Amino acid sequence: MTATESETCDVLIVGGGPGGSSCARGLRDSGLDVLIMDKATFPRDKVCAGWITPPVVDLLDLDLADYARDHALQPITRFRTGIIGGTTIETEYGKTVSYGIRRCEFDNYLLKRCGARTQLGTPLKTMECNENGWLINGSLQAKLVVGAGGHFCPVARELNQDHSSEKSVVLAQETEFELTPEQQSLCHVKPDTPELYFCRDLKGYGWCFYKDGYLNVGMGREGEKQLSAVRDEFTDYLDREGRVPKEILGKFKGHAYRLYGLQKRTIVDERVLLVGDAIGMASPQSGEGIRPAIETGFIAADVIRGCQQDYTKVRLAEYQDKLFQRFGEWSDHPEASLIPATLRQFLGRKLMSTQWFTRKVLLDRWFLQQHVSPLVHG
Ligand SMILES: Cc1cc2nc3c(=O)[nH]c(=O)nc-3n(C[C@H](O)[C@H](O)[C@H](O)COP(=O)(O)OP(=O)(O)OC[C@H]3O[C@@H](n4cnc5c(N)ncnc54)[C@H](O)[C@@H]3O)c2cc1C
Repeated sequence: MTATESETCDVLIVGGGPGGSSCARGLRDSGLDVLIMDKATFPRDKVCAGWITPPVVDLLDLDLADYARDHALQPITRFRTGIIGGTTIETEYGKTVSYGIRRCEFDNYLLKRCGARTQLGTPLKTMECNENGWLINGSLQAKLVVGAGGHFCPVARELNQDHSSEKSVVLAQETEFELTPEQQSLCHVKPDTPELYFCRDLKGYGWCFYKDGYLNVGMGREGEKQLSAVRDEFTDYLDREGRVPKEILGKFKGHAYRLYGLQKRTIVDERVLLVGDAIGMASPQSGEGIRPAIETGFIAADVIRGCQQDYTKVRLAEYQDKLFQRFGEWSDHPEASLIPATLRQFLGRKLMSTQWFTRKVLLDRWFLQQHVSPLVHG
């Protein structure tokens, strides 16, 4: 479906990633006219390792057999972890605990099945408030705008104009490319065993994922200005250890995301709210952002349905309340700790060299979040 026949909609979702398409899916059969606008045409690339946890599959009601017919879906059953330059540990689960997907395929699949009209290849450039809601790009009238445009979402920028303190931002670089048979023989990353290697100061980590013939290597660090130098250190290490020869690595692309809870952000206002990376929802421990983007999309849809077209800030405030219930409130002093940073890093490195901590805390709790109850919505 395209939007050419209409210049109005009830709900305009800006961004067709997992946050935007989940919000639209949650509004299916609501009677509301929902339009997704994205500056990209789909399928589009998204810089991402492409790791999804089982709750994502459940939340989206994904038929895995159907999905796997035409898309990469790599079951993950174990992990190889360590500190860059240090020893490594393999943790075996003996069952599938996550999946590897390719974002160009995954996001396109979700967008297609969400049921909303789409206007692709169209960036949101301007939004002006008027008595009926928002006038978008001077020609499209929407009663409510959902900002789902990711880290650089223009709607989020409208709501959060002070960029002076960006302490919760993770900068990342990544390359994903198809291996030739010759490269495959030189690369020792196994498809069912993603590899995670942490920086010595524990402010970030690098990863290697191999799925459906595509190798994905990347590195993300909190507030890091010299990311390329740290990435080089990481790729030198992979080369030295015989995991991935440096010369086969493709060109790295950069991106960023905000970690949840470390910085207050405005997420609702009159006739507007934000979901996913537009808020900064990534898990502070692992950087997982797909699941929170989907969850915020569904929570937003529930609240929008309940508003019965009254999109005042007071009504939409329920969305922020629900977000805080689910993800916790933002902290004013996230860095405050009785243990000095260097000691925390020393202890962290020691703990990460033990099988028990790696499995029970690092993997089960921080990366797989097995303690988090499923989202109830709809
Ligand atoms: C290097 C890296 C690796 C990651 N790895 C993982 C991982 O393995 N697992 C995981 O769970 N999370 C991962 N994340 C985080 C995850 O990618 C994001 O949290 C997730 O994509 C957020 O989804 P979203 O729908 O909010 O935004 P996005 O997926 O970023 O979608 C936003 C959409 O908005 C569109 N848009 C932007 N500006 C405009 C505009 N002006 N007008 C119209 N449309 C616009 C974009 O084209 C895009 O399609 C990673 C992130 C990075 C940077």
